[in-house]
Amino acid sequence: EKEALKVLVNAKSITKDGHQVELAGNIGGFKDVEGVLKNGGEGVGLFRTEFLYMDNDHFPTEDEQFEAYKAVLEGMQGRRVVVRTLDIGGDKKLSYFTFPEEMNPFLGYRAIRLCLDRTDIFRTQLRALIRASVYGRLCIMFPMIATVKEFRDAKAIFNEEKAKLIEEGVQVADNIEVGMMVEIPAAAVNADNFAKEADFFSIGTNDLIQYSMAADRMSEHVSYLYQPYNPSVLRLIKMTIDGAHKEGKWAGMCGAMAGEPYAVPLLLGMGLDEFSMSATQILKARKMVTSLDKNEAAKLAEEALKLATAEEVLDLVKKAVD
Ligand code: PEP
Ligand code: MG
Repeated sequence: EKEALKVLVNAKSITKDGHQVELAGNIGGFKDVEGVLKNGGEGVGLFRTEFLYMDNDHFPTEDEQFEAYKAVLEGMQGRRVVVRTLDIGGDKKLSYFTFPEEMNPFLGYRAIRLCLDRTDIFRTQLRALIRASVYGRLCIMFPMIATVKEFRDAKAIFNEEKAKLIEEGVQVADNIEVGMMVEIPAAAVNADNFAKEADFFSIGTNDLIQYSMAADRMSEHVSYLYQPYNPSVLRLIKMTIDGAHKEGKWAGMCGAMAGEPYAVPLLLGMGLDEFSMSATQILKARKMVTSLDKNEAAKLAEEALKLATAEEVLDLVKKAVD
């Protein structure tokens, strides 16, 4: 089977009726770039930059970060690289930074919330990213955005740092896309408004499902509520994709659902433009995409969105593709 998949490494991710999508890889750093390319990844859909911070005993300096981002952008040779700004907090702690005591860290001071409070940390990262932008095709996205105001504030800081660098005579790319993760239900429901200001969306289903179902993603006691095929989750995904397309923006997904074989037909049918997953899942996903018809997938998704339970949705998909 591995050999059969290998022929797909250089193939396009295109359906039988000619609809093309992008299949990308999730990475934690430069060391993962080779795996993405070897497995036929067409880009990086999620660079989780928190590892730069977690595998360290100090906040990485602007220059240290610049080198890390440059290496990834160069390694991807002009392919799209979506870098997520610092997503720390929740379960992700730093040895050299004290988080406030909170009852619910996953609902607390983390990710963009922390970055908009500690703008010194945020500005350092943005400067490193903007400086690295000339070495490839950079997209930046903010994690855990709940309100349009947060997006605006983050984007304004990005614009300020970009302007400062230009003023300082530093070369920067003029086509850096600035988007956001959709991983809080409030953002999914308000997607059409966000899409007027964000260049793209990337749906983070790991958190989107956790927050929709009010079920801790780390707790095995409630793991039955991790339901990617639940119609509630599918409807949030649909609203996000539709919101993006209404404004001519693209919508991707970088949560684990993007690499689930039975989810691919549904997501393709709902119009998802980019799927980002572990490198080792890319070729299987490509096999699935190339065996599907976009039109039929759209009808399948439409049927699925009318169903009541995750079990019913999964049965429907299995009947269609197995
Ligand atoms: C997600 O929430 O789906 C996601 C991709 O981000 P993380 O798993 O890093 O929270
Ligand atoms: Mg997340």
